[in-house]
Amino acid sequence: WKFLKEMPKVELHAHLNGSLNTNSLRDLAEKVYGNTSEEFSHLCARFVNFEKDSNLDKCFEKFAFVHELTSTAAGLQYATELVIRDFANDNIQYLELRTTPKANKNYLRRDYLRIVLDTIKRSRKKYPNILVKLLPSINRSEPVAVAEETVALALELAKTDPDLVVGIDLSGIPTKGKFTDFCGVLDLARREGLKLVIHCAEIDNPPEIKEMLSFGMSRCGHGTYLTEEDFAQMKAANIPIECCLTSNVKSGSVSSFEEHHLKRLMESDAPRVVCTDDSGVFDTSLTNEFLLVVETFNVTRDQCIDLTLEAVKHSFASEQERQQMALKVEHYVNSLQ
Ligand code: 5GP
Repeated sequence: WKFLKEMPKVELHAHLNGSLNTNSLRDLAEKVYGNTSEEFSHLCARFVNFEKDSNLDKCFEKFAFVHELTSTAAGLQYATELVIRDFANDNIQYLELRTTPKANKNYLRRDYLRIVLDTIKRSRKKYPNILVKLLPSINRSEPVAVAEETVALALELAKTDPDLVVGIDLSGIPTKGKFTDFCGVLDLARREGLKLVIHCAEIDNPPEIKEMLSFGMSRCGHGTYLTEEDFAQMKAANIPIECCLTSNVKSGSVSSFEEHHLKRLMESDAPRVVCTDDSGVFDTSLTNEFLLVVETFNVTRDQCIDLTLEAVKHSFASEQERQQMALKVEHYVNSLQ
């Protein structure tokens, strides 16, 4: 555990509002809203409690609880800082944070992304050991016009902060929205230089999976229902699958850790990265995900290091940043000898 905890890890699939753990939710409720009630503590306990028969839909319902707490500018700002703090405390040296810009009576989508981006910048001083990038998310259950606004804002922000705003994520309830409706706006983002991470094959929808594979992406979120043929296609195109074990098992999309497709990906030496998805909602950490991988698949320390270096390679960091990350991993390995 100590070896995994201290390893300078790389997190490539983390949703901002899903990454607040119960302690941070309590911090947020107390510091921003002055809520220290026992009732809130009970709600937090319920939030991370999963029934045996849980499914993706039930997981998505949980986000409403956090969204309420981040629905003010101060709440969103502090939440972003807490998430960076928690990843830094888990020795994450590089984090790609994704989040869906929202609009309500307190902020517009532009303000939302600005708040998150400014907090990332300010956090550099406080947490110098973690490098954070931002991937605005398109929620596929919202209208295409919202996606167009999100991409326009991402491109606007990438003009002034090209080293921070590096890609676009497509996520949200996978049974909602039609992928092909978003192809135009995703293609625009890609042509303008943003990388694409797409939640793909989270449910068994072969026609959509085919559409997504032929459209292409830089990394694939989950890939749970990819066939052997699809895996081979991903491997040929060097597209890594972002594997989130606890998320997949707790949400019921994979029946057990042993059954997780990471096993097949490792056996066929296909590109893959280990990620948390929503470390708050699923009550996990990247250290814990690595521990599960070690315990479930008898993965060695060297293989854990290789998985981290693979994540470095598939990150959207600059060449120089990737070299620095790899060097940190190398130093860590040397410090153990
Ligand atoms: P936020 O974008 O609000 O910062 O993070 C939470 C949101 O990310 C959720 O409301 C949902 O739209 C998206 N999300 C989080 N986890 C998953 C996941 O496992 N699959 C999909 N498709 N979307 C997710």
